[in-house]
Amino acid sequence: MPTRSMPRILLSTFCLLSSLLAVPVLAGGEVNIYSARKEDLIKPLLDDFSKQTGVAVNLVTGKEEALLQRLQSEGVNTPADVLLTSDAGRLSAAQKAGVLQAVQSKALMTQVPASYRDPAGYWYGLSVRARPVIYARDRVKPGDLSTYEALADPKWKGRLCVRSSDSVYNQSLVAGMIAHHGEAKAEVWAKGLVANFARPPKGGDRDQIKVVAAGECDLTLANTYYLGGMVTSQDEAEKQAAAKVAVFWPDAKTTGVHVNVSGAGVTAHARNRDNAVRLLEFLVSDSAQRWYAETNNEYPVNPAIPPSATLKAWGEFKADTLNVAKLGELNAAAVQVMDRAGWK
Ligand code: FE
Repeated sequence: MPTRSMPRILLSTFCLLSSLLAVPVLAGGEVNIYSARKEDLIKPLLDDFSKQTGVAVNLVTGKEEALLQRLQSEGVNTPADVLLTSDAGRLSAAQKAGVLQAVQSKALMTQVPASYRDPAGYWYGLSVRARPVIYARDRVKPGDLSTYEALADPKWKGRLCVRSSDSVYNQSLVAGMIAHHGEAKAEVWAKGLVANFARPPKGGDRDQIKVVAAGECDLTLANTYYLGGMVTSQDEAEKQAAAKVAVFWPDAKTTGVHVNVSGAGVTAHARNRDNAVRLLEFLVSDSAQRWYAETNNEYPVNPAIPPSATLKAWGEFKADTLNVAKLGELNAAAVQVMDRAGWK
């Protein structure tokens, strides 16, 4: 008898305990995120969300392309409710792949300006990054700079370092050029740019800033958060490199600085759709925006919220008002233009 009843008592005690323990966590249900943002750049915010709503958040982090592939292969069986990734090019690719669903929400529409979200609501920007000119303080006068277009001028021959055309950031930049000037002009521009390269493209944005600081070239195009990360770095060498360069905001009198977003969308097969929408709404709320933008060295999507002191130090700029969704739409055309221009 004891050998039979004991385990039964233990089992029912365990069930009772675990159901009691589970109550507070599951009161608001759960939401599952696939995030291309590293855990420490988002986790504290998700913990806040759980505290406020009682919704448990399960976070899976990974590389942008790998997460999209995973969503595609999991199909209807995916546990993910939210995809969080960077660049409108990648967000559009996820939308095209059919892994996102349209969401309409008053809070999202109010907090996220129209140019930073998909017009149909498949994804919303969470933070903004700009891709300005970053130049060597001792070798370039800001008065010699004006527009992206002017970087194709032969006066910059052998002075420009830019990463490869594989980078979605450059693809989006060229897509913006196509949107404003058409494919033919964008191609002539890209050819001129390539003719000015100091070296064949290699490395990431941060590497370009470092070689500009080291004197291998005088100019680069890089996303602002990379420089922000260097300015606030614990690494003395990175800090010193950052001090040797400055930001120039191009196209101030024309189309504005090329900007892009990190963003998120609700997955097509989300089982926790309502919680997914709640989470997105939370991420664009004022306090979340401040923390998220500052931690990632980015600009808040809502222009009413001031950027961090690090970013403020570079001054204000006029951002391109082109809907960033256009950058995704024109991605394939941009890749072809870069190919024809010989941009490796
Ligand atoms: Fe990046």
